[in-house]
Amino acid sequence: MDTTIKQSLEEIVGEENFSDSLIDLIAYSKDASEHHHRPDAALWPVNTEQISAIMKLANREKLPVVPRGAGTSLAGLAVPEQGGIILDLGRMDKIIEINIEDRLAVVQPGVIYADLDRALSPYGFFFPPDPASGSVCTLGGNVATNAGGIKGAKYGTTKDYVLALEVVLPDGRVLHTGSKCMKSVSGYDLTRLFVGSEGTLGVVTEITFKINPKPPLVSTAMATFEKLEDAGRAVNQIMYSGIIPSALEIVDQQTLIAINENTDLGLPVVEALLVAETDGHTKEETEFQMQKIISIFKSNNATTVKHAEGKEEAEALWTARKSSYGVVARINNNLLVEDLAVPMSKVPDMLRAISDIAGKHDVKMPTVGHVGDGNLHPVICFDGTDPDEVKRVQEASTELFEKVIELGGTLTGEHGIGLAKIPFMGLEHDEISMDIMRSIKRLFDPDNILNPGKMGLEE
Ligand SMILES: Cc1cc2nc3c(=O)[nH]c(=O)nc-3n(C[C@H](O)[C@H](O)[C@H](O)COP(=O)(O)OP(=O)(O)OC[C@H]3O[C@@H](n4cnc5c(N)ncnc54)[C@H](O)[C@@H]3O)c2cc1C
Repeated sequence: MDTTIKQSLEEIVGEENFSDSLIDLIAYSKDASEHHHRPDAALWPVNTEQISAIMKLANREKLPVVPRGAGTSLAGLAVPEQGGIILDLGRMDKIIEINIEDRLAVVQPGVIYADLDRALSPYGFFFPPDPASGSVCTLGGNVATNAGGIKGAKYGTTKDYVLALEVVLPDGRVLHTGSKCMKSVSGYDLTRLFVGSEGTLGVVTEITFKINPKPPLVSTAMATFEKLEDAGRAVNQIMYSGIIPSALEIVDQQTLIAINENTDLGLPVVEALLVAETDGHTKEETEFQMQKIISIFKSNNATTVKHAEGKEEAEALWTARKSSYGVVARINNNLLVEDLAVPMSKVPDMLRAISDIAGKHDVKMPTVGHVGDGNLHPVICFDGTDPDEVKRVQEASTELFEKVIELGGTLTGEHGIGLAKIPFMGLEHDEISMDIMRSIKRLFDPDNILNPGKMGLEE
């Protein structure tokens, strides 16, 4: 990096908040995906004024800037593909306000998801999106990716909770969007434009979230199915039965085999295992919903149904689902964690297609997913040093995404496009929508300095 630029950046953030040491640059060259590229420097700004000054300088010097939370992106969103500056927002980690009367929380972007949830707990409130990475990922990252999780079917995703934002634009101006009101249709919805924009339009420096009262009781059940189609039909029937489960998750056979081979859980090796959770304020309410779900499990040929008696038993029923990523990640060299979503009625078709495509290309693709909202995570496992396997993985991925689109689905339910899914953007978005997206990017960032190279926005 040019020494004058380096000096100017050190003046803005202080020498202790600047690094161009090799060890830091290597650490910041990766996120949780397979992608990597080294930045030229890393900065740890502590306030909006510093970020504004950094962006003014970067804009003048045409330096790429990549905002970064915890770096847990699974699709290469936080990788500095064109070098430049990593803006690590981890030191802006204050919960500024919790206002129960107005049902909102105001936070800095570096607050860890679980820390907000913990802070809300004494008030009987929670922040529902609940990504599986919640113990480490940041709320700024959640906004930039529109993160979701196991509670999506009932409680939606991050976009349903963002009321207002403070954002530093690529030219350094500070924009305020939205309001602290539960309702507002005042002008274009600029807040929503930033949610899921993958750090390509602005740096989020303050977030106002709507928060929810937390139902105190939950009921949990697990069922196994010899046939995938029986599980798929059970999911469909649950979702139009009038009950909205607070979680409805699937674990497929390949995942069960991987778990059994690498743990002592001894799970039944069936085609599908479903875990359901209901929540409410009284036992009658949660059990009424759960009994309806259990009867649907049984009428769709469930081979075993277990209904947890207490918290410990409930945790045991969740073990298969919650240990799946850890086990699969531990035993494979390389992973592509896919994240497709299909309309609810197409979940069984998609699950069968995943299994067929895996078989056809001789690729391991254990799959888990939030079937309650149609979001499935086939995890493509491979050895990146084997060119033949890499080729089969590429062919299988292409077929997977073609099938998703054929079923009326979408490339990504919660992880984003980043670098990983750029080749497939044209399958889902026609030239008009790509043109509009590129125009929006040009309007905010005419010199393409903010997280460049992502989302297929470059011509
Ligand atoms: C084990 C595991 C489980 C996961 N489970 C889930 C899950 O259940 N649901 C889910 O949705 N995701 C999940 N993810 C993916 C990931 O955790 C989410 O995408 C998360 O929201 C990323 O947050 P982060 O702080 O790590 O952001 P990063 O990875 O650092 O960044 C992600 C993107 O956000 C941008 N960004 C970060 N902060 C800001 C900011 N302040 N302003 C502007 N842009 C910003 C970055 O530029 C980048 O484009 C999982 C990941 C792992 C490794």
